[in-house]
Amino acid sequence: MVTSRELGKTRLPLWAAGFVVLICAAILGLSAWREWEARDAELRNAEIDVANLAHSLIQHADDTFELADTILVGLVHRLELDGTGPDTITKLQTYLPTRKSSDRIRGIFVYDETGRWLATTEHVDLSRFNNSDRDYFRQHRDSPAKGTLIGRPIKSRAGGQWIITASRRIDHPDGSFAGVALLTIDVAYFMKFYERFDFGPNGSASLLNNSGIMLARSRDESGAYVGRDLSNALLFRDWENRPAAAVYYFKSPLDGVQRLSYYQRSSRYPLMVLASKSQDDVLAPWWRAAATRMTFVLGLVLLIAVIGVYLVRQLLQRQRMAQALIAKEANFRLLAEQSSDMVTRIGLDNRLLYVSPACVRITGWSAEELLDTSSLAGIHADDMERVEQAIAALKSGEAEEARFVYRQRHRDNGEIWAEAALHVTLASDSGEIDGVVAVVRDITEQKDLQDKLASLATTDGLTGLANRRAFDERLAEDWARARRDGAQLSLLLIDVDHFKKFNDHYGHLAGDGCLRSLSRILSAYARRPADLAARYGGEEFALLLPNTGPDGCAEVGEGIRQALHDLAILHAQNPPSRLVTASIGAATSLPAQTAMDCSALVAAADRALYAAKDNGRDRLVMTGKVVPWPAKSA
Ligand code: GH3
Ligand code: MG
Ligand code: MG
Repeated sequence: MVTSRELGKTRLPLWAAGFVVLICAAILGLSAWREWEARDAELRNAEIDVANLAHSLIQHADDTFELADTILVGLVHRLELDGTGPDTITKLQTYLPTRKSSDRIRGIFVYDETGRWLATTEHVDLSRFNNSDRDYFRQHRDSPAKGTLIGRPIKSRAGGQWIITASRRIDHPDGSFAGVALLTIDVAYFMKFYERFDFGPNGSASLLNNSGIMLARSRDESGAYVGRDLSNALLFRDWENRPAAAVYYFKSPLDGVQRLSYYQRSSRYPLMVLASKSQDDVLAPWWRAAATRMTFVLGLVLLIAVIGVYLVRQLLQRQRMAQALIAKEANFRLLAEQSSDMVTRIGLDNRLLYVSPACVRITGWSAEELLDTSSLAGIHADDMERVEQAIAALKSGEAEEARFVYRQRHRDNGEIWAEAALHVTLASDSGEIDGVVAVVRDITEQKDLQDKLASLATTDGLTGLANRRAFDERLAEDWARARRDGAQLSLLLIDVDHFKKFNDHYGHLAGDGCLRSLSRILSAYARRPADLAARYGGEEFALLLPNTGPDGCAEVGEGIRQALHDLAILHAQNPPSRLVTASIGAATSLPAQTAMDCSALVAAADRALYAAKDNGRDRLVMTGKVVPWPAKSA
């Protein structure tokens, strides 16, 4: 089974893409987490800030109301002891302004049981006012409780400004209602005090009573918030179960701003303060820094992503190329391995780097056995030089391809004929010649067929001697050679006597047998390798004898004639011997000494043959007329 890795397809690009995504996600995640932490820290710091503010403010409120309380307690104690007679009131009228020395106290008032003003720090006509309609007055009148009552903010009857009242009930000695002692504090006093603190552009400090009524609020010059009933606000729901002080996030019902705040209840008075900052104000510096940092981080992530995409695309492209290369290689390997030709790669040192499986058929050796052995092993010694020259020419760059036929030793089958086509290979990096690819084909059968065809083309079918064509070629060659070497060349033409009659008498088949017998004699007399016996045509034969003079020629001719006699083939129509006989015409030439061509030799021999026929047959006639022969013509 082929795995994806083998096909050159790995998951590397996928891993790389995953890795880049992971890195980007990690950087973004870590940055976001860090920013969230920074935001959180910013809020925590702001919480501590508002808590500290709330502590200070509640302390201030406590101190203020404690002062008021102290004054009221003293005043009520005195009035209850001394009564509200004119003397006491007169004394009181002089005493009260001394108590108002603090800037916290706006005014001090004493009312009798009907609400009439008895004494005050204000410089007004006392008879004009009656405060029996005020809430605090009614509460004191209706309840015997002695504690200090902190009332809602109200508009002063004396000055028209917003004030907070603190009041106590005055009793007659019998415990019945004798009136109310009242002390007012300017809401503006708290406002002024709150301005000393930094709550940010949208922060605020509020003083509320436990029923959710706003007593004072920072930056409330117009008095828009004072006296508002906030008992429906979320903070006051489940008020009893809330801790005395805590951080509290809320969206202000007054201005709609999201705030982080700290509220603290007074331990002594039914009061609470709420110090708050706008969440946006608190987070603004963080937000600005975070935006810068995140811009940088996003830029970095974008850069990594771009580089990542580039790298992944490169990887994918390489993978595609590798796959294509592998597929291409597989195709070529398939071609090489399935080919009946032996494909080899030869290194510069002539060693075999690759051998295709067809080598078993061509050399008898397996590819494993041949690998790393010499590519020239087994080449026939006679062909070796040619092969070496061809390879050297390829390696030196003189030729790009070479083709040659040579003999190669087969492990079991002796020698084979092989045809090789060689090409140089170039190194992919340097482009230099790094070896040779050879495709070797077994052409033994072809070669045999060729040889067979060649011999068929030059051999006579009946007798096995050379045919007329081969004779003509050899004659021309030998003529040229004899001319060159100044050598003698002899020719015998042999014609069977009265052969037509032999055929007529004994039949054609017997005639064929007779011709074969004569051809055997001729073969036997062609003793030297250069001698050629041929069937010249019909029952006429030729024997070409290079380097043979007239004596040798005559001897051979006479020998042939005699040998035919000795066979004693009956030929009733051939008197006087009544055996098969032949007439022979012979000629010898020295081609170097004549301007004529080889046909002259044949013509001379032919004439001699005619002469033999004319002179009674069964004889040899030598000619010396047409072909000049120095010895005879001299
Ligand atoms: P001569 O003594 O004058 O040569 O008489 P001849 O009968 O031999 O003369 P010719 O050349 O006229 O006759 C040749 C004969 O040889 C004719 C032909 O029938 C015969 N012949 C030629 N080729 C063959 C062959 O291949 N086989 C047989 N059996 N006979 C052949
Ligand atoms: Mg004839
Ligand atoms: Mg004849």
